[in-house]
Amino acid sequence: QKAEWDKLRDEKTVTADGKSYTLAANIGTPKDLTGVHENGSEAIGLYRTEFLYMDSAELPTEDDQFEAYKEVLESMDGKQVVVRTMDIGGDKHLPYLPLPEEDNPFLGYRAIRISLDRQDIFRTQLRALIRASAYGNLGIMFPMIATIKEFRDAKAIFEEEKAKLVEAGVKVADKIEVGMMMEIPAAAVLADQFAKEVDFFSIGTNDLIAYTMAADRGNEHVSYLYQPYNPSVLRLIKHIIESAHAEGKWAGMCGEAAGDPIMVPILLGMGLDEYSMSATSVLKIRSLMKKLSTTDMVELAERATKESVTNDENIKLVNEFMDKF
Ligand code: PEP
Ligand code: MG
Repeated sequence: QKAEWDKLRDEKTVTADGKSYTLAANIGTPKDLTGVHENGSEAIGLYRTEFLYMDSAELPTEDDQFEAYKEVLESMDGKQVVVRTMDIGGDKHLPYLPLPEEDNPFLGYRAIRISLDRQDIFRTQLRALIRASAYGNLGIMFPMIATIKEFRDAKAIFEEEKAKLVEAGVKVADKIEVGMMMEIPAAAVLADQFAKEVDFFSIGTNDLIAYTMAADRGNEHVSYLYQPYNPSVLRLIKHIIESAHAEGKWAGMCGEAAGDPIMVPILLGMGLDEYSMSATSVLKIRSLMKKLSTTDMVELAERATKESVTNDENIKLVNEFMDKF
């Protein structure tokens, strides 16, 4: 197996019927770049920037952030790097940014909600990102978007900061894709409307499953409800992908499910374009995809969303399908 994976490292990700997909890596800090390269990742689909804030004793300055983003972009040598703006709140806290005491922090003040409220913090991050864009292929996405207004507001602030930097003569990339995480059911249901305004979607299954099933992803007492293959979750995912494609946009996934061998065949059948996962899963998934034919997977995805009614049925369905290969 090691010999096979060594060979796969420099290969593109192509299915048995010749379709290409992007296998990307999730990172938390520039230190993770070694793993990204060692495992032949074709892009970075999620750079979780909250670690920059969490590993610091105070708010990271614009220059600190610029250096980190630039390092990642340069290291990827023209391959896309999707950076997610700060996703603080929920279970992630900053010692120097007191958050309100909340009964339900996962339904509370977090992620883009904080960024739109604390625009000083948000604008600093966006300026650092826009400056870094000159050094590679940057995409930016916003976490926990629930409404079209949040996306429009966040994008407008991005455009304002970009215009100011251009005005000041700072070099910025010609094109910076601006997209959003799809991890709140309200947004997923309205994906067809969102798709008109974004450059791309990245599906955050970790949260999307939790909010769809109303079951905390870390709570062992309700872990039986954490069901990635529940047809309700799969239908949302399918709707997100189809909505993106109907507007000529791409759809990726950066939750754990993107590197899950049971989920990947279904996602291929739905036409998901980009799969972003822990770097250590990239070669395993590339090896799997090479064996699969997209056209067979279309039938699998149809059955998984239209015929199955439970999570377990879908696990069985995929396993039966895969026995053929
Ligand atoms: C997700 O929710 O699937 C995701 C990728 O974001 P995080 O795990 O950082 O919340
Ligand atoms: Mg999330």
